[in-house]
Amino acid sequence: MIRLEYRDVTMRFADASGRALTAIEGVSFAVDDGEVVSLIGPSGCGKSTLLNIGSGLYAPSSGEARVDGEPVAGPNSHVAFMLQKDLLLPWRTIAENVALGLEIHRQPKTECARRARELLASFNLADFAHRYPHQLSGGMRQRVALARTLAVDPHVLLLDEPFSAVDAQTRIALQHELAQTLKRAGKTALLITHDLLEAVILSDRVLVMSARPGHIIDEMRIEIGHRDEPLRRRRDAKVESYMARLMERLEIARPAPAQGAPAPA
Ligand code: ADP
Ligand code: MG
Repeated sequence: MIRLEYRDVTMRFADASGRALTAIEGVSFAVDDGEVVSLIGPSGCGKSTLLNIGSGLYAPSSGEARVDGEPVAGPNSHVAFMLQKDLLLPWRTIAENVALGLEIHRQPKTECARRARELLASFNLADFAHRYPHQLSGGMRQRVALARTLAVDPHVLLLDEPFSAVDAQTRIALQHELAQTLKRAGKTALLITHDLLEAVILSDRVLVMSARPGHIIDEMRIEIGHRDEPLRRRRDAKVESYMARLMERLEIARPAPAQGAPAPA
């Protein structure tokens, strides 16, 4: 069953001088129920734009995004967004931050508090429920942001470089937690990352986008198994060949032609 689908999506913006800029062009793909798909591509190729369209924050210039077969017409509770910056509200406690989405959806106060407690416990943050965001480390704040994203029980999670602002060790721990959570909850996710290894170890499938106007240029199914165990995946011999193919598609580390050598035909 398809949870999230993009059908021939094109997005044009006006640039600083008012000229039309085509950010993405003719993007089509689908994400199945329970599937985790990563999106990689050069900076500015339209990855965040695609997520904004999926969440209903942007209406595409043409084409459409669908969630559960319904065209996305605006922000809705079936889709939750998580960003690189945790965007926690500094004047709310951790528990109150996690409950925020539920309150917006007008759940009873006691139910909001109960659900927040439950989620914080599952992320080993119960002891911090009554602290404020500034009292937590960056990694802990991202875990709170993940808990908040899950609180509304969305069908689809859109994750825009969620770990790019944390240190390398914290990132590994967060990847593990995300993988376990997605598996346990059976959630569908579309993850943007610029970390190719992260894409390989967390996903069922990786989509590669071209430079602007962004479109899908490659799709790679990750056949390693154990998607809920990214640490184990890291050590799998197949990871290297997946990474090599992604680097080739993104034209990373292609050797520069030698000085004075004839240009390749
Ligand atoms: P990525 O996330 O892949 O780095 P973005 O989706 O943020 O790329 O941006 C793709 C292109 O669209 C960029 O050239 C960016 O400047 C432009 N863009 C994104 N959002 C807007 C906007 N709201 N208004 C104008 N241009 C935008
Ligand atoms: Mg972006």
